Amino acid sequence: MTQTTLDKDALKQKYAEERDKRLRADGNEQYVRLEGTFDDLAADPYTPRQERDPVTDHVTFAFIGGGFAGLVVGARLKQAGIDSVRIIEKGGDFGGTWYWNRYPGAQCDTASMIYLPLLEETGHMPTEKYVHAPEIRDHCGRIGTQFDLYDQALFHTEVTALEWQEDKAHWLIKTSRGDAFTAKYVGMGTGPLHVAKLPGIAGIERFKGKAFHTSRWDYEYTGGSPDGAPMDKLGDKRVAIIGTGATAVQCVPHLAKAAKELLVFQRTPSSIDVRDNSPIDPDWFESIATPGWQQRWYDNFVDNQSQGFPEEDYVMDGWTELSRRIREKVQALPPTKWTPETVLEAFEDADFEKMSEIRARCDSVVEDKDTAENLKAWYRQLCKRPCFHDQYLQAFNEPGTRLIHTDGKGVEEIMETGLVANGQDYEVDCIVYASGFEVGSDYTARAGFDPIGKSGLALSDAWADGMRTLHGLNVNGFPNAFIVQPSQAANLISNVPHNIVDHANTIASIVSHAEAQGHASVEPTLEAQDAWVSLVLSGQGMMIGSTECTPGYYNNEGAGLSEKNRHGLGHPAGAKAYFAHIANWRESGEFKGLTFS
Ligand code: NDP
Repeated sequence: MTQTTLDKDALKQKYAEERDKRLRADGNEQYVRLEGTFDDLAADPYTPRQERDPVTDHVTFAFIGGGFAGLVVGARLKQAGIDSVRIIEKGGDFGGTWYWNRYPGAQCDTASMIYLPLLEETGHMPTEKYVHAPEIRDHCGRIGTQFDLYDQALFHTEVTALEWQEDKAHWLIKTSRGDAFTAKYVGMGTGPLHVAKLPGIAGIERFKGKAFHTSRWDYEYTGGSPDGAPMDKLGDKRVAIIGTGATAVQCVPHLAKAAKELLVFQRTPSSIDVRDNSPIDPDWFESIATPGWQQRWYDNFVDNQSQGFPEEDYVMDGWTELSRRIREKVQALPPTKWTPETVLEAFEDADFEKMSEIRARCDSVVEDKDTAENLKAWYRQLCKRPCFHDQYLQAFNEPGTRLIHTDGKGVEEIMETGLVANGQDYEVDCIVYASGFEVGSDYTARAGFDPIGKSGLALSDAWADGMRTLHGLNVNGFPNAFIVQPSQAANLISNVPHNIVDHANTIASIVSHAEAQGHASVEPTLEAQDAWVSLVLSGQGMMIGSTECTPGYYNNEGAGLSEKNRHGLGHPAGAKAYFAHIANWRESGEFKGLTFS
């Protein structure tokens, strides 16, 4: 038995009570997209649309999505000598999530040294341990420029159809701009969080004041800029923000400083651990940035979240701290007692202790006792996206900022002039929707197109009972296609870009091999794909999908993982095992499970 002085039974009961308050029958259906009545809220406020003629040519590789996935795959292909690469992107420039999310205070939550891809290749030194969004967006531009990805890119363009033409062994791609071009290979990296959603609150369409989603920040209205200039037009405004997830946690401190009054409507509090950001010292950076450094950092970060007990922790952040605590608890036991059960118990104890510290932080930072109490998160740390911030809790000490705690119920109604919560009306000038992004829907519903593979097979039909891939990347029946996303692969949620860089390495090695050998197409065998999916499904899954957790997108809004979305798990032995497997697979040069023809 590991040791903790906390009353675990009482905590478990409290967690269950808080979860039960929040369970609701409509689950994911409670949200609405930014379309139809809300079309205006979806418009790109950052870059004017350029008119252009439709494109009807042929490229070697077309990649859908110009975020980290498209950029890194594009860079790796260029490095491998594939020059004809076109990225198709719905935003006005590269960046993906970092193109859209320009809300004040936006910043990466994973250390920049491992979050920003291709640091070694571009020679860029991040300025801070956790850099701010403008630097991340600039880095995207840097990759695009360095690897010549701008010339062929199509911006403000959405793919509407993607079809494999068997006789010609290429893909036909149609877009919202009338393009109809072909590509030998396609990649898809549309991102897990790219379809913004609004809470489906009764009367939401009635509001007559200003309203926008955080991923379409209206600086015309608020004043200020993504670079941190104060929002000088809010001084006479009463602003409401709906939502208290990772996005709200970053922008609330800025709104609190700028607005005459800020009302933060909270349904479920986030856990807010210490951020402890600091500038990066160029001398230190030079000393560690020796060849191969970023891969060493990736490996070290993953090692520190596995059961390998590494000596050093390069990153030293909230993610690796949790693992360190678990490890210390396990190591305090005699090795004869190291069993899967004691490791799970150590995990649980470390989690109870961590969350108790995080709750105590509310009391020590927030002056008003009721507000402090209401900001406490009653669930395990990985039930919801853990947040790290050193000004969020402090913002509730600003005289104009008020927490509207709804005890799990949320905003009840929106009127022409404001909102209703806890049966009380709140008149406001502006509503900021920090209500997140669609997650629980099918891949093809979020992508906005349904790839048609061999013999007219639609991806939505191939995946009707759950996704099926080899290595999370290739799909039987869909030759020369690569899907860049973490499921059925490493599923390393604490550092999404690592998953992307690794997939890009795999894609570049497969395509290089196919091109060098003069092959027309490459596709996984059904047998290899079935074996891989069985391996994925043999895993226990992660605590983050658990129905013991408070509802949120991690656990399908409380419904838990259906058999269909269980297919979205990662390698059963964890990220480290996946990365090791796929590195060996690539290096062997055998490409086992793929058929080239
Ligand atoms: P989330 O989905 O995490 O949060 C949505 C918020 O809206 C929740 O607090 C939710 O409450 C609340 N909400 C929904 N409906 C209502 C309602 N009717 N009344 C009141 N509140 C309501 O979205 P975010 O944009 O914050 O974050 C999405 C993800 O994006 C993060 O989890 C993270 O993965 C990523 N992200 C990453 C960042 C980074 O790395 N730097 C920064 C920001 C985001 P409830 O919890 O009760 O459902």
